[in-house]
Amino acid sequence: MLEKVLIANRGEIALRVLRACKELGIRTVAVYSKADRDLLHVRLADEALCIGPASSRESYLNIPSIIAAAEATQAQAIHPGYGFLAENADFAEAVEESGFIFIGPRADTIRQMGNKVAAIEAMKAAGVPTVPGSDGAVTSENAEAMAARIGLPVIIKAAAGGGGRGMRVVNDAAAVLDSLAVTQAEAKAAFGDDTVYMEKFLQKPRHVEVQVIGDGAGKAVHLGDRDCSLQRRHQKVVEEAPAPGIPEEARQAVLNSCVRACELMRYRGAGTFEFLYEDGRFYFIEMNTRVQVEHPVSEMVTGIDIIKEQLRIASGLGLSCTQDDIVIRGHAIECRINAEDPKTFLPCPGKIEYFHAPGGPGIRMDSHIYAGYTVPPHYDSLIGKLIAYGPTRAIALQRMRNALDEIVVDGIRSNIPLHREQILKDAAFNEGAVDIHYLEKKLGMSH
Ligand code: ADP
Repeated sequence: MLEKVLIANRGEIALRVLRACKELGIRTVAVYSKADRDLLHVRLADEALCIGPASSRESYLNIPSIIAAAEATQAQAIHPGYGFLAENADFAEAVEESGFIFIGPRADTIRQMGNKVAAIEAMKAAGVPTVPGSDGAVTSENAEAMAARIGLPVIIKAAAGGGGRGMRVVNDAAAVLDSLAVTQAEAKAAFGDDTVYMEKFLQKPRHVEVQVIGDGAGKAVHLGDRDCSLQRRHQKVVEEAPAPGIPEEARQAVLNSCVRACELMRYRGAGTFEFLYEDGRFYFIEMNTRVQVEHPVSEMVTGIDIIKEQLRIASGLGLSCTQDDIVIRGHAIECRINAEDPKTFLPCPGKIEYFHAPGGPGIRMDSHIYAGYTVPPHYDSLIGKLIAYGPTRAIALQRMRNALDEIVVDGIRSNIPLHREQILKDAAFNEGAVDIHYLEKKLGMSH
């Protein structure tokens, strides 16, 4: 097992990684920006190093600073968490070239999955179902014919895109070329690459994703699926596992196809295949080559600690289990708690005067906050994740309602009222599946 790991992240995920390391007897190095001296994991780590000013660009995104910190502390491996450098192939490469272990996939895998045209190609080769589309880049020469072949509406997407940017829906044949030009220009400006591709635009899909772990040597397992359809501005708000109401045959087929794809690419570490799901069919949209915010719901229903698996694989110990050992039991739901105004959704950083964490059977709170902690304004507004597990979905939902009644975060505004008053009381959500536009429609937002 690794002896010392540097955690190149902040907030709840840095604390989550630290907890897993402590369980495995691995010593930890925290790196933090000047705005983050008071982070809980910084206090709990064996060593802590300031790597730069508050601005992420100069700290959590600063590759030379992070590698210098690993050198100074003689860490063996670097865990990137999610966000920041987690899906940066150049970072993964720099880490390994400097003689450290990158806790994640090989740089070439990250690079391939970061290019969506290449990713979709790899998926098709493995038999993963994809969205009917252009099968490669579209240009002004072939765009109109392609749109006609696929059938309107279509969506034009940046190959290098991410974070919901660089996409445009086209409803009208006369608008194809203009939309293409605008999306290409946006893609060039945002990602430095104007390659775009085209897909059928699905009208009312759900977001269903598959958690996988690969050993890097051709063995892989899945930990079932998650539904993350409750979104606002392409940001997930509530996630659950397993995805409700999916016919067992379709579910098994997609899960197996993801495992096959991982085996073919000798995928290393934790990853997620994201799909849109409509009318009983799955359509691959992208792969995330890192641990995700919502990984706890899969942990709750499988009993497998995904971070510990990542650490095992990075240590060269392989997977702790085979597919046959993994049984999906019960149901888990996660509410993302953000420091934001529940009505305007604007970030609300500031000092937490009082914090009471909920408890009871099946309740898990993954959070770095404490009374007296000041949420800095420089980073993502996620301050914690409340997870409820139950033997059935109905019990998980009721435990979540109880927990939302108990939790207290005073001093700053948060989206707890949104979860408590709107989402967990919503009839359609309580019944089961809703599509990805449901929450925005309910909140009266256009999309
Ligand atoms: P990003 O990497 O920017 O998040 P994705 O490919 O994951 O891009 O797509 C982001 C979101 O855009 C999806 O969750 C979905 O809401 C919407 N979207 C993408 N492709 C399609 C499609 N073919 N049909 C309908 N909606 C889509």
